[in-house]
Amino acid sequence: MVLGAAARVAIVGCRRLVSSSHAPLLVSSQSRQMSTDARSVSEKLRNSGLLRTQGLIGGKWIDSYDKTTIKVNNPATGEIVADVACMGVKETNDAIASSYEAFQSWSRLTAGERSKVLRRWFDLLVAHKEELGQLITLEQGKPLKEAIGEVAYGASFIEYYAEEAKRVYGDIIPPNSSDRRLLVLKQPIGVVGAITPWNFPLAMITRKVGPALASGCTVVVKPSELTPLTALAAAELALQAGVPPGALNVVMGNAPEIGDALLSSPQVRKITFTGSTAVGKKLMAAAAPTVKKVSLELGGNAPSIIFDDANLDVAVKGTLAAKFRNSGQTCVCANRVLVQDGIYDKFAEAFSEAVQKLEVGDGFKEGTTQGPLINDAAIQKVESFVQDAVSKGAKVLLGGKKHSLGMTFYEPTVIRDVTSNMIMSKEEIFGPVAPLIRFKTEEDAIRIANDTIAGLAAYIFTNSVQRSWRVSEALEYGLVGVNEGIISTEVAPFGGVKQSGLGREGSKYGMDEYHEIKYICMGDMNRQ
Ligand code: ADP
Repeated sequence: MVLGAAARVAIVGCRRLVSSSHAPLLVSSQSRQMSTDARSVSEKLRNSGLLRTQGLIGGKWIDSYDKTTIKVNNPATGEIVADVACMGVKETNDAIASSYEAFQSWSRLTAGERSKVLRRWFDLLVAHKEELGQLITLEQGKPLKEAIGEVAYGASFIEYYAEEAKRVYGDIIPPNSSDRRLLVLKQPIGVVGAITPWNFPLAMITRKVGPALASGCTVVVKPSELTPLTALAAAELALQAGVPPGALNVVMGNAPEIGDALLSSPQVRKITFTGSTAVGKKLMAAAAPTVKKVSLELGGNAPSIIFDDANLDVAVKGTLAAKFRNSGQTCVCANRVLVQDGIYDKFAEAFSEAVQKLEVGDGFKEGTTQGPLINDAAIQKVESFVQDAVSKGAKVLLGGKKHSLGMTFYEPTVIRDVTSNMIMSKEEIFGPVAPLIRFKTEEDAIRIANDTIAGLAAYIFTNSVQRSWRVSEALEYGLVGVNEGIISTEVAPFGGVKQSGLGREGSKYGMDEYHEIKYICMGDMNRQ
């Protein structure tokens, strides 16, 4: 995912607390009155004890040491939802120290004991899915139904890894000499730093923390400063489930400072990151001096390829889901819709009709399918991409401008006659804009699809079994959906190739990221 630098201005915008207590849900005098829905939701959340505003270090909820805070906004209204602790190097170093200490005991529990704790956490996440969903909508903006869907998806990683904890098998290798025995153990790597983005405030955390804790690792999580509340609520539930002090810490605030502390510490043995390609590259370079293991889930530029022989309905529904989920703000969102000559016009018409039915609005409003974009920088980026395409000859079929609701709402947009020289063909749009690109042959489609530095998700729509195999294998992508637009699940490996990242999350492969492999050569003890 990629947002311009301006999007991150808020991240270092720490301000000093006016009172020593963290009154949650401060409504700034400059901000608009809280909408009734958001206010009643906030009230309920406060009563549930899930609205946390401090960081979690060593099992204790803590203000930032210099008492500075950072505001969390509701992107649908601009209202301030909360002031949360704005932390930096010192707090992060303490979180690392507590994680390091907790590792000594957490890693020595049996897999079954860790599994039980994770299972309890899963049960609590599911029991609180409404509140967690509301928090996601409040701070991130996605429609409530989609947010509750994210909770189910996010929780599924905890359930899956509670089960998988018990299946971390080693190996016995036939020896190269008869007086030896060769063994392979998988051991937890140690303290993990997990840096996560705002577009899935819960799921991007659980799919890192689940396998880490299951393996016996301990974790310092740094959620996005735009959406820390869901992370803090999930951490509160982890404590209730019995995750011991220090095994899971949460710090947020000054991202570069926290990142530097995590990266420079020799006690942190792994960094797992989901976010922009630019930041991912920086983190990878900064991991070199201490030779940390690194997993990166970075930006995509997903093609959705519609062949002449596709079922039109399936292609429309699949591409709609792949493009407009979370208002286009996911790294697996279709970024380029490649449509073959023979079906181009029919698809453009049917797809525009389907897009027209999308309901833009506040995520708490019944029937909303498209929430706001995360902030002004996101809107400006989408606007500039559309302007660039139109100036180079593309035609707007639908939308193409900010929504009349104002704020950061953008009209679901379909643009035809997009070509490879337009910015939206090359860079991640991260918004509700579907560019239609025409192609002639299967070879053309593969060439255009692969002509990018990214390689995360790709989608193809065809009724030909042979073509499905051929194209799936030719695409330089980590994930391929065939006649499917939503393919992420906890049981399958998620991750990219090329500059979309390193490593996999979810499934049995996701567990490997948190292990070291140790080889033990047992000599014959009776040897003279
Ligand atoms: P996006 O463009 O989607 O916001 P970013 O890569 O900027 O993606 O952000 C993803 C996560 O990385 C967030 O938690 C953000 O605070 C964090 N982040 C951004 N810059 C740095 C940095 N220099 N060091 C560590 N973390 C960072």
